Amino acid sequence: MILFLHRKDLRTADLPAFDYIRACGRPSLHVLVVDPFLLRRDRHREHSGRSFLAQAARLQQRYAAEGQRLHLLCGDPAAVTGALLEAHAVRELVFHEDYTPYAVTRDRSLRETAAARGVRVTAFDEQALADLRDFQRHAGRSEPYKVFTPYYRRWRDYLRQHFRPASTVSAGALQTLPLAEGFAERFPLPPELEEALASCRLEPEGSGPETALEDFLSGRLAGYAEGRDRYAREETSRLSRHLNTGALSIRRVYERLLDVSADAEPWLRQLAWRDFYLYQSRLDPLFYRYEKVYDLSGMPSDGFQAWAEARTGIPIVDAAMTELNTTGWMPNRLRMITAMFLTKNLLCPFPYGERYFRYKLADYDNALNRGGWLWSASLGFDAAPYFRVMNPVTQSQTHDPSGAYIRRWLPELSGLSDKEIHLPRPHAVVELKASRARAIEVYKEILASSAGGREQG
Ligand SMILES: Cc1cc2nc3c(=O)[nH]c(=O)nc-3n(C[C@H](O)[C@H](O)[C@H](O)COP(=O)(O)OP(=O)(O)OC[C@H]3O[C@@H](n4cnc5c(N)ncnc54)[C@H](O)[C@@H]3O)c2cc1C
Repeated sequence: MILFLHRKDLRTADLPAFDYIRACGRPSLHVLVVDPFLLRRDRHREHSGRSFLAQAARLQQRYAAEGQRLHLLCGDPAAVTGALLEAHAVRELVFHEDYTPYAVTRDRSLRETAAARGVRVTAFDEQALADLRDFQRHAGRSEPYKVFTPYYRRWRDYLRQHFRPASTVSAGALQTLPLAEGFAERFPLPPELEEALASCRLEPEGSGPETALEDFLSGRLAGYAEGRDRYAREETSRLSRHLNTGALSIRRVYERLLDVSADAEPWLRQLAWRDFYLYQSRLDPLFYRYEKVYDLSGMPSDGFQAWAEARTGIPIVDAAMTELNTTGWMPNRLRMITAMFLTKNLLCPFPYGERYFRYKLADYDNALNRGGWLWSASLGFDAAPYFRVMNPVTQSQTHDPSGAYIRRWLPELSGLSDKEIHLPRPHAVVELKASRARAIEVYKEILASSAGGREQG
C-alpha cells in the first residue's frame, strides 16, 4: 500500500500525487498530520490556525462526500509516520514538496524514517503555477531572476508553452484504506483541537473555494485593475487563504481565468508575484536569513506594541490593524502601508511584524508573508528601494478619499470631516516627516552592513 500525507494541498482533486497513486493502481492510506509545533502558543485560537483547521475539517468532509477516508492524527510528523509505517504494510510514502526551512528539516527526517524501513519515497511539486525547476531550465539561467518584470515576461512565455493542465483524478477514484485497529487512539487530537475542528465542521458550505473563485471571475475581475487598491470596496478575489492551504488548485484558477477572459493581465500579474516569492524562497539562499546577514541590532522595537494594538495614532494604520486583529484579513495595499510604517517610521526590525502577521493572518503563508516583509524592509529581490517610505496619510487620501475604511474600523473617528480623518491624531507615536528622514539614514547603513556588501536586487 501507499501512504499519502497531506500538507499544503488540502483538496481532493488536481493533485499530482493522486494521478500517480491512481496510475499505480494500489490502495492508499491518506493522513493529515496535525503538527503541534505549527499550532504552538495557542495558534489554533488565532485566525491563521483557525483558517487551517477550517480547511482541514472541510477536507475531511470532501473525502467523506466522495466515499473515501482521510485520517487526522496529531503528533510529531516523523514519529507519526514511523508508527504508521510500523503498523501498516506500506511500501511507498508519497507527498507534495514544501520548501520552508521547517518543512525541509521535517521532510529530511521523514525520508530517513522511511529509508530505515526500506520504504520508497516519492515527492511531487505542486505549489506554484509554473514548475519552477523546469522554468529555470527553460529560461536557460544559472542565476535566478532578481527583478520581477523580466521574470514575469519569461514566466508568461513558459506558461503559454508548458502549462500542465489540472488533472481530473479526484479522491473518489482511489481506494483509500482504514487505519489499523486502535491506531488512531495513539495520536489523538487534543480536546481543544477536536473542539475547534468540530465547530469548523458545523460551518455552512457555499462559501467554499470554488464558489469564491467563480464569484470573483464572473464579477469583480472586470474592475480589478481599477479597484484593487480601493481597499474600502473589497474588490480583490480573497482567494489567498484557499490558495495557500491548497484548498484551491492554482492550475485550476489559471485555467478558469483563461476560459473567462483572455485579457486579465493585472490579476495574472498578482498570481505571478505569488510564484515569484515561491521562486525566491527556493532560489535565493538568503531568503530566510536576511536578518542574519544584515545588522538590524541597532533598531528599537519599542513601537511594536502600539502598532500591534492599533494605538499608533495614525488613523489608516490603526484601522488596518484593527481589521487584522478582528477578522484575520487585511487588504494588500494596507499590508504594505502598515509593514512600511513599522519597519521604516517606527524602525522596528521586520521579523517582529512578520511574526505578528504569522499568527493573525487567515491567509498566512511563510514565503509570501516573508516576501512582503522583505519588500517593505528593502531587503531581498526587487524590494522597495531604501529611500521609499510610504506616507500613510497621503496613501489614505489617495486610495480612500472619503475615509470610509477608517470610519468602518475606527467608529470613534467617524465624526471627523473627509479632510481631517486621514491626519495623525494628537497622540501619534511618531512624527511622519522626521521619522521618514531617520529611516532613510538608518536603512542606508543597514544595507551597507552585510558581510561583503551583497548587491541589492
Ligand atoms: C507585509 C505583507 C505580508 C503579506 N503576507 C501574505 C501572506 O501571509 N499570505 C498571502 O497569501 N499573501 C501575503 N501578502 C500578499 C498579498 O497581500 C495577499 O496575497 C493579497 O492581499 C491576498 O488578497 P487576494 O486573495 O484578494 O488577492 P488578489 O489581489 O485577488 O490576487 C490574487 C492572488 O495573487 C496572489 N497575490 C496577490 N498579491 C500578492 C503579493 N503582493 N505578493 C504575492 N502574491 C500576491 C495571492 O495568491 C492572491 O490570492 C503579503 C503582503 C505584504 C505586503
